[in-house]
Amino acid sequence: MNRNFDAIIVGAGQAGPSLAGRMTDAGMSVAIVERHLFGGTCVNTGCMPTKTLVASAYAAHLARRGAEYGVMLDAPPRIDMPKVKERAALVSATSRRNIESWLRGMKGCTVLTGHARFESADRMRIGDDVISAPRIFLNVGGRAVVPDMPGIGDSSYLTNTSILGLDMVPKHLVIIGGSYIGLEFAQMHRRFGAAVTVVEKGPHLVSREDEEVSEAIRDILVAEGIEIRTGAECIRFAPHPEGIAVGVDCTAGAPEIIGSHVLLAVGRRPNTDDLGLDKAGVATDARGYIEVDDSLATNVPGIWAIGDCNGRGAFTHTSYNDFEIVAANLLDGEARKVSDRIPAYALFIDPPLGRVGMTLAQARASGRPLLVGRRPMTRVGRAVEKGETLGFMSVVADAETRRILGAAILGTSGDEAIHGILDMMNAGAPYDRLLRAVPIHPTVSELIPTMLGEMRAPN
Ligand SMILES: Cc1cc2nc3c(=O)[nH]c(=O)nc-3n(C[C@H](O)[C@H](O)[C@H](O)COP(=O)(O)OP(=O)(O)OC[C@H]3O[C@@H](n4cnc5c(N)ncnc54)[C@H](O)[C@@H]3O)c2cc1C
Repeated sequence: MNRNFDAIIVGAGQAGPSLAGRMTDAGMSVAIVERHLFGGTCVNTGCMPTKTLVASAYAAHLARRGAEYGVMLDAPPRIDMPKVKERAALVSATSRRNIESWLRGMKGCTVLTGHARFESADRMRIGDDVISAPRIFLNVGGRAVVPDMPGIGDSSYLTNTSILGLDMVPKHLVIIGGSYIGLEFAQMHRRFGAAVTVVEKGPHLVSREDEEVSEAIRDILVAEGIEIRTGAECIRFAPHPEGIAVGVDCTAGAPEIIGSHVLLAVGRRPNTDDLGLDKAGVATDARGYIEVDDSLATNVPGIWAIGDCNGRGAFTHTSYNDFEIVAANLLDGEARKVSDRIPAYALFIDPPLGRVGMTLAQARASGRPLLVGRRPMTRVGRAVEKGETLGFMSVVADAETRRILGAAILGTSGDEAIHGILDMMNAGAPYDRLLRAVPIHPTVSELIPTMLGEMRAPN
């Protein structure tokens, strides 16, 4: 095939399909190219399967705690790992099928399967097909980094993709990387019954968070029997009769951990090395992320980069928001910008962490006068009633404008309750507005106004 379109979209992840929908609705002809699985990382190897597994792990945890609630189970719960795996695979497969059939049935949209590579700034090759368009959107996402650590080449390891294929509980899972992907897998596998050790190079888990949050997360995981090894220098691997030996020169603890399985969760890298970007003249940064301006345009007119591959976000909601920005600017005459986005994310351990905006450390560094609020979950009625009182909520605001700068809710429903604060921040309203709200009782959210009413200058 040799065909011209109004637009080409490379990658059917979190931004591409919706963009195809908007552009075809506007009467444009669109080609969307996917080389592997429709729905990309989130649907197939990221958010959806992991949150489905987290739900299974939560069920196991609650079953073990049954007696605390007066629910007596006759025997300790047994994990049927093939069933657990099948449940996650089904959730992914359903979503993947829906996206693919939506695209294939979309009027004006041509679906091509295969690897797209630039031949010039407006032309791409997919196998024997050559297609061209005046607008090209790159939504190519990323993949797990395999770090160049000593011994890695001689050892077998898992990534976030291959671990989903396990249909047995690992005897001892050693996870390299103490950020959100590693910690979600750590807690779920511990709850499935594995021994779990998390090895983190830095001094704290989830290093972007305030130390108080990192330490509380550590306590939650340690209380479930997960071993945490921070400050791990010179991580190295060697084959061992029981699996794999992971060498760690930590500030404390044994210098070697013997695991049956190792999961690498040390970050992601963009899928930009095999796109032929040089043929189009598209600039990338030192780590391979495509450089974009505030409207997500690359240095080459007519080429945009959206989603994880532009390095401006690493989440499904940021990728989707990239779609909204380019669609609004191209089709609705708006001038939306990435820099208007308030950063927010959740860490889906149990209890989850919901985080928006600045950490306290970032707020302090901004030099503004500050007010802070904090409330432990032991003083949140709903948490007490649910028997889930670990964690706390905290907030920081500008003392002069009284605008909220950032907040963290580490606690039951923290991933949902944080949206009350995110909405307030998006509305650009002073936090006093929330003091007059009448929240629903009993919820976690109802204590947010109470916390805001007790704001004080930080120590
Ligand atoms: C374990 C894990 C858990 C996660 N959990 C969450 C979570 O709970 N919440 C959250 O918000 N985010 C989560 N994420 C992150 C989220 O999955 C990503 O941010 C999101 O999928 C990025 O979407 P995207 O559209 O940019 O790219 P992707 O979803 O990666 O899609 C890119 C697509 O492009 C295709 N492609 C690449 N190159 C080419 C080419 N040359 N030709 C044709 N096709 C190509 C790929 O096959 C892929 O389908 C998680 C990630 C992981 C790994």
